[in-house]
Order: sequence, then C-alpha cells, then structure tokens
Amino acid sequence: MGAGYAIDLHTHSLRSDGALEPGALVERAAARGVTIQALSDHDTLAGIPAAVAAGERTGVRIIPATELNTESEWGDVHILGYFMDPADIALEERLQWLRDNRGRRIELMVERLNAQGHPVSLERVLEIADGGALGRPHLAQALFEAGHVPSYDAAFEGLIGKDAPAYVSRVGLTPHEAVELIVAHGGVPSLAHPFTVIGLDELLPQLVATGLVGIETYYGSHSPAWTTRCLRLAADHGLVPTGGSDFHGRGDHGTDLGGTFVPPETVPALEARRRASLPVTI
Ligand code: AMP
Ligand code: ZN
Ligand code: FE
Ligand code: FE
Repeated sequence: MGAGYAIDLHTHSLRSDGALEPGALVERAAARGVTIQALSDHDTLAGIPAAVAAGERTGVRIIPATELNTESEWGDVHILGYFMDPADIALEERLQWLRDNRGRRIELMVERLNAQGHPVSLERVLEIADGGALGRPHLAQALFEAGHVPSYDAAFEGLIGKDAPAYVSRVGLTPHEAVELIVAHGGVPSLAHPFTVIGLDELLPQLVATGLVGIETYYGSHSPAWTTRCLRLAADHGLVPTGGSDFHGRGDHGTDLGGTFVPPETVPALEARRRASLPVTI
C-alpha cells in the first residue's frame, strides 16, 4: 500500500487527538512508504517510545516532536517542535501544565454543553481520549456518538466551534512563549499550517527574532499559491520549509500519512539548524 511520500513531519496519535495508538500509527505510515516520521502530538511526548519501537521494527525513523497550540490575538498559531527529548523532566513539567489546562477547559465545555441541552458525559470524553492530551476532537466524537451532530466534523462547525456558546478558550502559551519553550529545551520550532494565522506578515518576523527555524510550507490544505507564499517567506527570513500530513485519523482533518510531499533536504536542513544552536562541546 505504498501510496504515500517518504517524509511526514506532522502526525498525531491517541496520545493526543489522533485515533491510532502510536505503534499502529507508525505501522500504517510504514505500509504507506513513509521512512521518516515526526510524531507531533499536542502538548505531549508520551507516544515517542512506542513510536520509536515500532519504527525500529518497520524501518521508520521517528523524529520526536510536539505541537503547541497558542492563545493570542493572532488566530490559530500552532508551533511544531522537532527533536524534543522525552526524558527532559523540566520540559515534561511544562507540557503537563499545558495538558492540565486542556483538561480543565474541556470540563468547562462539557458543563456548558450540558447546560445548553446537548448532554455528553465527561466520562465518555475521557474514555475516548484514552489518557491522551484532551482536546475538542474528543468532545466532537462524544457529541457525534450522542447524536447531537450529524458527523464528527459538523461538531466543529456548530456546537464547539470558536463562535459557539459552549466554546471556552484555553489558558496557554503565547506564540512567542511556545517558540521560546522549544528553543530552551534544545528543539527546533516550525510554524504549523501558517494559513490559520491572522496577521502572518507581521507576526512572522517577530517569531523569527524569538528563534523560529521553520515554516510549514507543504500542507494538504495549502493551495499552490499558499505554498509559493510560504516558500517566499522562508527565503526572506532564512527559514526551513517543512511539511506533513497532520494525519489524525478522525474526520476530514489532514491528509493520510505521507499524503503531502516533503522534499528530502528538509530533515538535514533542520538537523543543521539544530546543531548550529546547540552549545559547542569540545
Ligand atoms: P483544541 O486544541 O482542543 O482547540 O482542538 C483543536 C484540534 O481540533 C485541532 O488540532 C484539530 O485536530 C481539530 N479541529 C479543529 N477545527 C476542526 C475542524 N473544523 N474540523 C475538524 N477538526 C478540527
Ligand atoms: Zn490535533
Ligand atoms: Fe495544528
Ligand atoms: Fe496537528
């Protein structure tokens, strides 16, 4: 079934809001022809060991990564962090704080939905998340199961979309703090799906000054014009163009694993920028 491209630098497992266990996700990627995969679950590195083990079995190199969603007036700014260390305890403390905030926010949204006549049980939402970093996708699944929406995707357009009365915004990092956190822990930050940012031309140079290294250029829902725009921004600001499927395995969000072409020079370019930012040891 090798119908995908070899490099996928944006994927999600059940450790956050994807539908597959990390091992099964990597096996599926391998079957589709992926040889380098970043597991980039939201606010967690919990899936990395299982992904690496599956990668060793199936010949997929796993790049440990995470995706940090942020809260600001800049729209949906998500920062991918590559080459993160799952054994970094100080980093894990920060990620745990972000996950705790995710949990409280989903609890509040469940309360609101119940008060608004769309009852879902928090227990079911937690069951769907199966211990992974909680998010609206788990709530969307529960709402669909309870018959409140005709499909998983419809939940985001109606009941839990940003304009819906049950929507609760998250306490979290600003875009700058997300870039700083990744850099401070030896990672390489890239701006995910830039088309969701409001005021990209203004925000981007600021994030570059904070340490941004990449811009997600190759992305399933990017039009050719957007890809071209990102390539130009990358050239102007000295950024590495990155890309990936954003596969979740839930609803229509993202493409299938390896579904988006990412050029082979991308990973060496990210590695070079990582080496350049590490302290020199003699
Ligand atoms: P949250 O971080 O809890 O606000 O949830 C954001 C996540 O929900 C994203 O990472 C996507 O996986 C998913 N999502 C957001 N908007 C949509 C949408 N319109 N359709 C499907 N999934 C969505
Ligand atoms: Zn997601
Ligand atoms: Fe995202
Ligand atoms: Fe994502």
